[in-house]
Amino acid sequence: MPNLPSSLSDFWRRLLARPDALMLELGAGGELIVARIRALLSMVLLLLPVANLLMGGKLSETMIGLIGVVLAIVVSQVWLALARHQGRYRWLPYATASYDVTLTTLVLTALAIDSPATGLNSMVVWVFYLMSIAMTAVRNDGRLTLFAGMLALLQYALLILANFQLIGNPDQLASIEYGTVTVSTQVQRLVLIALMTVLTTTIVYRMQRLVEMSGTDGLTGLPNRTWLMHRFPSVMDATRESGGSLSVCLIDLDYFKRINDELGHLAGDRALRHVVDVMQQQLEEKDWLTRLGGEEFALLLPMPIGRAWERLESMRRTVASQPFQPDSGADLMRLTFSGGIAVWPDDGADLSALLRRADIRLRQAKQEGRNRVLARDP
Ligand code: GH3
Ligand code: MG
Ligand code: MG
Repeated sequence: MPNLPSSLSDFWRRLLARPDALMLELGAGGELIVARIRALLSMVLLLLPVANLLMGGKLSETMIGLIGVVLAIVVSQVWLALARHQGRYRWLPYATASYDVTLTTLVLTALAIDSPATGLNSMVVWVFYLMSIAMTAVRNDGRLTLFAGMLALLQYALLILANFQLIGNPDQLASIEYGTVTVSTQVQRLVLIALMTVLTTTIVYRMQRLVEMSGTDGLTGLPNRTWLMHRFPSVMDATRESGGSLSVCLIDLDYFKRINDELGHLAGDRALRHVVDVMQQQLEEKDWLTRLGGEEFALLLPMPIGRAWERLESMRRTVASQPFQPDSGADLMRLTFSGGIAVWPDDGADLSALLRRADIRLRQAKQEGRNRVLARDP
């Protein structure tokens, strides 16, 4: 079972860790959603300077707004084009979050140069700090949310300081439309940015735990079928880029029903965990062992089928040589498995085709007497 956070330090450690592959993939989907929202918002923003002018606003304010919005539309289209290459650019969420926050600061600065009271008291533009932070939530990366929150706090604090420092005449801090700029309202705005960051960080943490749980098998802690289905296309892409092969091994434990019948379901669960422990000890860096369900597993090995057969065969011998002890003092029980292997791209172009081919070989291995691994058709 995924551990629940036992302390605040655990919360931070998990939040600041690099998200795993599934989370990064969902985050890349989130980046695309944000890019679409940004592109749409940038278009809608065109209405603001127009409305400002119609409602009798100053021409200079309208022009500043218009230039900002046109620039925002152009850049938002660039971010959208990059986000369509889902997950290819790791730096993209940081670049776009920096852009969202910094653009808000730049527009506020432009307004403040014209009138400090407008720059510091305008609500419509300032609220984009909060939106930029909130939009990091769908990227599933706590580090990104903290980064955007810190950046917004820093930039807005500098804007306040610069305005208070550079103003010669205190009258400039008051305007009829925007009211008077006071230290307390500015501090409140900083506190609101910090609160939004904390809230969004908590949401990201909760989402990460949910994603983790949905991709993890509760009994063994291995990645599950959902994880495999989401992850497989990117494993295949990486294999294609490196020009290597990818072997998919299907593993089914032999006569496992007997363990349940003879020792009960709980001992059966312990037996499953025992086999998984032994198999995990044999894994190398780029191997992925997943539990498909029941006592069936899929093992991805980034190698040609011949070498994958040798690896799985050695795993089979090790599992068979390390018997399971149901209880202390109880007799040892030998557990074995049968395996079938298929290789990408020769045996199939996608996961279901490869699993189907591996299953044909697995069933043959069962028919031939079990406790063996086959990598060729009968
Ligand atoms: P075969 O060699 O043909 O695979 O025989 P088998 O008995 O292993 O048959 P099969 O694979 O069809 O049955 C799997 C059995 O594994 C069914 C079920 O009792 C047991 N099993 C599946 N999942 C679990 C689990 O999570 N815990 C326990 N204790 N048993 C499970
Ligand atoms: Mg089975
Ligand atoms: Mg079985």
